[in-house]
Amino acid sequence: MIRKSCELDRALSFRDVNRSRVMVRPSRPPLHKMTQIIRRIAPDVGWLPVSFANIYFLGRPGGRWAVVDAGLPGRAAEIIEAAEARFGTGSKPEAILLTHGHMDHIGSARRLAEHWDIPIYAHPLELPYLTAKSPYPPSDPTVGGAIAFLSRFWRAAPRDLRPHVRELPPGKVPGVTGWKWIATPGHSPGHVSFFRASDRVLIAGDAVATMNMDSWSGLVSGRQALARAGTPFTCDWQATRASVNELAQLRPNVIGCGHGVPMSNAELPERMENFAQRFRAPRSGRYVRQPAQTDNNGIVDLPRAPFDPVPFATVASLVLIGIALGAGYLEEQERR
Ligand SMILES: [Zn+2]
Ligand SMILES: [Zn+2]
Repeated sequence: MIRKSCELDRALSFRDVNRSRVMVRPSRPPLHKMTQIIRRIAPDVGWLPVSFANIYFLGRPGGRWAVVDAGLPGRAAEIIEAAEARFGTGSKPEAILLTHGHMDHIGSARRLAEHWDIPIYAHPLELPYLTAKSPYPPSDPTVGGAIAFLSRFWRAAPRDLRPHVRELPPGKVPGVTGWKWIATPGHSPGHVSFFRASDRVLIAGDAVATMNMDSWSGLVSGRQALARAGTPFTCDWQATRASVNELAQLRPNVIGCGHGVPMSNAELPERMENFAQRFRAPRSGRYVRQPAQTDNNGIVDLPRAPFDPVPFATVASLVLIGIALGAGYLEEQERR
């Protein structure tokens, strides 16, 4: 099964990334009915979508390897199974590298770190939110759009990844060679991206997305597009814009983000440059004019939360529906 998955992996060209998921049946009793295949997006770079969040695997079977991000909670078993199919049963990575600490990127981190007995690395400015020192700046549903609407129903509890979590060392990516990490703050205070200069492969987390989560059609279809990532969770729009500019200057040939199908084509550097040039913050929102102020201990100060009319409108609609139904019921009672 391992050989089969490796062959499949090698055989898959980048175009295959856009096709429907390839599954193989494992030969031993599986934790899940199907083992997901880690797909190759560049030499020694694998991609595993777990629900709507992506995980990346840096390194090759038989060598040192590391995992970038850890997906949603409760997905550790399928991540381990996919990793074993690619790297070999009993093989383990050197480290879990976090682009940032939002729940969709760290949900299974503790389980994975415990299973493999390995450290988790994050930028120092992200650590307050991973060690129960501070909550993240609150999300901002008033920026508008599909994911912002849905963020009203998303309540992320603070996570404590001690004793596994530690600081990313300066100028070095633990567990892999040829990669560097780049501070790309804005979406979160200590957000980082990973870049391999030799062939300009970029793992960008939520600094940017390859699907438009602000539009309902983009969210449902998952159609490839360079777009803002996690708009309601972004706590500093000016820094986000500067980070997007910095990433565009790297002229990446391949971009794998936290959300969306990874992108790779000859025009990608120009597309990224155009995207950076026309990058706009939302028209309004809590962190558009003023960022959340944070430091090594987490939140220092927050701009005032704008009035969010949607919960009010929802309650008002429910009250009106209740009144209408109640009136109908009373009429019915009177008729009897
Ligand atoms: Zn995020
Ligand atoms: Zn995300």
